[in-house]
Amino acid sequence: MDSEMTVGEYRASVRRFGVLGITLFFGISIPLMGLGLFGAHSTAQSHNWLTKFLASWVRPDLLRPAVFLIFLPVLCAPFILSTWALHWLDRRIGCRCEHCGCSLILRCDPKLIILEEHCPKCGMSVIDLAT
Ligand SMILES: [Zn+2]
Repeated sequence: MDSEMTVGEYRASVRRFGVLGITLFFGISIPLMGLGLFGAHSTAQSHNWLTKFLASWVRPDLLRPAVFLIFLPVLCAPFILSTWALHWLDRRIGCRCEHCGCSLILRCDPKLIILEEHCPKCGMSVIDLAT
């Protein structure tokens, strides 16, 4: 039953997750955000059904901000997708409490876990004290 990880194993896992997580998060969000901005810019610049519709509702100088406002969900989607990818990565290579399944990397402070050596959610010991 006693399969607690050592401090060294936990630190290595946090470091590996940090490098891969940052790469994954920005590798997904930055290109997709750029694509969304390009789409919004192209739509605002061209004459299409959306700009024709908006031209009858807003002043001409507010047409571009109105198009970007409509594109807001598209511009936010990369960050939602990146956050989902981080949770996916956490399930694949992250550390979890063997008692309650709570992530020991996402939404918690690894330094505090190393210091206190127990799960922040259930309070059970997760790091082997002998090492
Ligand atoms: Zn726990």
